[in-house]
Amino acid sequence: MTDLAVPAPSPAPTGTVPTLPDDPVVRLCAELIAAPSANPPGDEEPVAAVVQDRLERAGFAVRRHYARPGRPNVLATLERGEGPHLILQAHLDTKPAAPPGAEPVGWSSDPLVARIADGLLHGLGACDTKGGLAAMVVAAERLARRDDWSGRLEVQGVADEEDGSGLGAAFLLSEGLLTADAAIVSEPTGCLPSAAQLGNAWAEVTVTTTGAHAGTPSRGQDAVEVARRFMAEVDALLTRMPTDPAFPHHPRLNVGHLAAPGHPGTLSSSCVLRCDVRVLPWQRHDSVMEVYTRAASAVADACPGSALTVRPYQGGGCESHAVADDHPLVRAFDRASADRAGERCSFAGGSDARFFARAGTPAVVHGPGHLDQAHAPDEYVPVGHLVLAADQLEAVAAGFLQSVDRRRAGR
Ligand SMILES: [Zn+2]
Repeated sequence: MTDLAVPAPSPAPTGTVPTLPDDPVVRLCAELIAAPSANPPGDEEPVAAVVQDRLERAGFAVRRHYARPGRPNVLATLERGEGPHLILQAHLDTKPAAPPGAEPVGWSSDPLVARIADGLLHGLGACDTKGGLAAMVVAAERLARRDDWSGRLEVQGVADEEDGSGLGAAFLLSEGLLTADAAIVSEPTGCLPSAAQLGNAWAEVTVTTTGAHAGTPSRGQDAVEVARRFMAEVDALLTRMPTDPAFPHHPRLNVGHLAAPGHPGTLSSSCVLRCDVRVLPWQRHDSVMEVYTRAASAVADACPGSALTVRPYQGGGCESHAVADDHPLVRAFDRASADRAGERCSFAGGSDARFFARAGTPAVVHGPGHLDQAHAPDEYVPVGHLVLAADQLEAVAAGFLQSVDRRRAGR
C-alpha cells in the first residue's frame, strides 16, 4: 500500500537532547538519535516525524509512503522548474543497541542520548546513518534558501535498510519512486564518494553421495570430501576472473555455512554449503553464479556416485553497481572538494544504492563516519565529518542542479 493518510502525530522522541556545539548538523543529529528507530523490531515513526517537520518548514512538499503501518518512508520534494531530478536518500532505521528486553552491552552511556567526547559524537545510529541523514536535511534546508539552481530536489528518509529494505527502498522501487537523474545514498564513507559497490552472488549447494562406513571408505563417497573438491574448483575458476585494484581480495569464495549432519563413524551422504562470491563493479551477477554451476558439474563428473545441485540462496544476492567517473554527479563531487578531487571510497558494506541501480538511476554512496563504526557499541561519527558532509552535499547538489543540461542528465 502507499501514501496512506499521514497518521496521528508520532509519540514524542524519548531521550534528551543535551547541550551540544551550536552547529545545525550536530544538533539535528542528536535530535535524530533521540528518536529511537531500532530495526528489529522496526518503527521509524518518531524519526520520520523529525525529518518531515524540518523539511516542511523549509518549504518541501512531504508525503509518507507505507508498505506497512508504522514503517514510514518520508519523501520530501522541492520543485524549481525545468532541470534534473536529484534524490538524497538516507535510511531512518538503526541496528538495535541490544536484543529485545536486554540491556545494551558495551555502551558507556545511554545510546539514545548524543554525547560528544574528543571531537566524536556518540550515539546509536550516529554513524549509520543519522549523521548522514542530518547532513542531508541541513544541506536541503540551505538549498531551499538558494535561488541558483533549478530542477527537482528530493530528500528520502527510508525504512527498513537494516533488515533487507523490503519495507523501504525495495518497496519504493516497486512503486516507481526511485527513478531520477541521479541519487546520493548516505552510508559512512569517510565523506568520500563511492561510485562503485560490490554485489554478491549467493548460492546454496547440496552435495549428495552414497556415504559409507568410516572403516570402509572405499565402498562409498564422502559428501564432505566432494564439497572440499567443489570449493577447490570454485577457487580455481575464480583465479581466472577479472580483478579490480579498488577491491583487493576479491573475487574470493566465502562459505558461511557448511553442514553435514551425521556421525563421526560414517562418511556423510549429504552436505550443504551456502556460498558467497562478491561481484565486482562492471561484472555481471550471472557470470559469477555460473562459476558455481560449472564447478558443480566438473566435480560431479570427477566423482561418480555424487550429485551436486546449485540454487540461488535468498534470491541469489544482488548486482554490483557503478557510476562512471565522467557522470555529472561524480564530477560535481570532484568540483565540490577540489583538494580531494578524484579520491574515492571503496565502500564495502551493503546499501540501498542497489535498488537505484535496478531503477536505472546512477547512485553515489557518500556520508560521514567510517564503516567500522557502524553496528558497534559506543558508535560515533566525527563532528568534523558532520559539518563537512553537509557542506559537501550542498555544493554537490547545487553543482549538479546547475550544471546539468536542461534536457536532463545523461544516464
Ligand atoms: Zn546504513
